[in-house]
Amino acid sequence: MIMKKQTQISEKAYQSSGFIRKYQKLVSDVVIPWQEKILWDDAPDTEKSHAIANFINAGKVLRGEDPGDGFYGMVFQDSDVAKWIEAASYSLMNTPDITLENELDKVIGIIVQAQDEDGYLNTYFTVKDQDKRWTNLHEAHELYVAGHMIEAACANFEATGKRVLLDCMIRNVEHIYDHFISKGNPGVPGHPEIELALMKLYRLTGNSHALELCSHFLNERGKDPELFINEASKRDWSVWNSNPKDQGDLEYRQCDRPLRSLEKATGHAVRAVYLYSGMADFASETGDDEMLSACRRLWDNIVKNRMYVTGGIGSTVQGEAFTADYDLPPDTAYAETCASVGLIFFASRMLENNIRGEYADIMEQAFYNTVLAGMALDGKRFFYVNPLEVDPGISGIVPTHRHDLPVRPKWYQCACCPPNVARLIESFGKYAYGENDDTAFCHMTAAGTVRFRNGMVLDCKTDYPHSMNVNYSVSGTGRLAIHIPGWSKEFKVTVDGKDHNAERRDGYIYIDVNGKVQIEVVLDDTPHFVYASPRIPRISGMIALRRGPLIYCFEGIDNGSVKSVRINRNSKPCVSAYSAELGAHTLLVDSFIEQDTDELYTEEQPVLGPYEATAVPYYTWGNRGETEMRVWMQ
Ligand SMILES: [Zn+2]
Repeated sequence: MIMKKQTQISEKAYQSSGFIRKYQKLVSDVVIPWQEKILWDDAPDTEKSHAIANFINAGKVLRGEDPGDGFYGMVFQDSDVAKWIEAASYSLMNTPDITLENELDKVIGIIVQAQDEDGYLNTYFTVKDQDKRWTNLHEAHELYVAGHMIEAACANFEATGKRVLLDCMIRNVEHIYDHFISKGNPGVPGHPEIELALMKLYRLTGNSHALELCSHFLNERGKDPELFINEASKRDWSVWNSNPKDQGDLEYRQCDRPLRSLEKATGHAVRAVYLYSGMADFASETGDDEMLSACRRLWDNIVKNRMYVTGGIGSTVQGEAFTADYDLPPDTAYAETCASVGLIFFASRMLENNIRGEYADIMEQAFYNTVLAGMALDGKRFFYVNPLEVDPGISGIVPTHRHDLPVRPKWYQCACCPPNVARLIESFGKYAYGENDDTAFCHMTAAGTVRFRNGMVLDCKTDYPHSMNVNYSVSGTGRLAIHIPGWSKEFKVTVDGKDHNAERRDGYIYIDVNGKVQIEVVLDDTPHFVYASPRIPRISGMIALRRGPLIYCFEGIDNGSVKSVRINRNSKPCVSAYSAELGAHTLLVDSFIEQDTDELYTEEQPVLGPYEATAVPYYTWGNRGETEMRVWMQ
């Protein structure tokens, strides 16, 4: 069956309730104000940001004034401000707040002052050395930063209707177009991101130069493997001292071969999924089947060979990168929060090309596990790295595990993950719901009200992901497509109280709506074991636990020594009491516990006693102090 392309809804069309509302409120009330303080260097006990000061000082440079204390921070420090603006703008759509809107206007006013007459906007180069603009695409992230600011501009316009930042970024895109296309200067982004941002701008404004630039960057990428080597030969400075002659570096930067010939997901995981999202966006907009085929191969490689059961990707700290098929170590995992956010972006774009439940399944898997685990339950601390196993005393300490922290720290100098989580949560409706001319799509179960373009109004009531009963009140005329998650082998649908014999097609059921209907979907809420493939070293033969979209883990605080627990795989895990502290139900599993011994090795057979092990949702781990944690159990 040929489907008309569907796209994300506008975030304004979704008013959340339930679980998503709780998280959006947390982000609006805690995360966004706190990030704002950091950007203004107004937060005590955190690393200095200087991000807004950089824009103020860049404005002074352009006016010929003394640049004050100059530039401070990472070469991509501007992107922290961009991501905050994006998240705060989405927050305005969910939670109108005139004070926040005024504060956004103030920051945007400062940014506009930092834009050069020719449209150039980047405080690192404007403050430090304007002659070095566009001479180090390999390392200096100018196009990456521009991409984030374009995304911020689109979100701010969508939220407020104000064009100040949007017009600023359109001028910036014209500047970039002039440099790379009109003047024909060679170059592609060292760090992909701008591709998907240009597609957003094109879809919002119809700006054809944005589409042309995206096409240019995608088609040029990997064509000339010497590109960055030639670039480096023309300059005598460096940001990171990375070597463009290193072939590994080319793969790390996803520019070792043309994108259309890519077979495997390689290199820096966040860059990879941002790039693939841009490719899938472009394919969906232009009908480029060759590009789409590459996206499908990359998608399959990620989800069939290179993804953790928690939806985490990028298994090594070395370059925050993909490694090899089936290399998914639980304890030295990298699985950056941002990479799972990017995987959701990629999945959402793949859904635009084809309605297939597997894309929606992976969005949920990444969101409800790695992305939510990235943020503490109080919204104040964040994980950059999301291991599936920690041992206090080893994790975060020994050289091989230094990156795998057992508790969330407050803020990082490289502050990419917290604002990424914030912007995703605040724009959740875009990922949960989609539409085309005749069909409204529910890709992820999300409580709240949605107003579709075709006039259909849907109200979803549910305690998902804690309850698997979902009630939809729908009015209007058209077709409704509801995703039934792949993990729910059994499900039941009633329409106006009568059994609806719904056939699942590619993961979705379709219901024709004419007038008002009540639809109830009951998904399988039984906890299940998940078995690891024998091809995955270290966890083959082990099991994990899942209920609905939630992967569970075992913590020392509930179980003593988790390493001593052996799960009885013939048992049936059951739902236990509700934990108010975690805001979730725990699970109980019949297990055995091995008696402790201080002998490193012994010829005595271990003594096993009966034990009832407690599991908690993975996204809640590490919220009760430093304690052992495991997803995969013997
Ligand atoms: Zn990150």
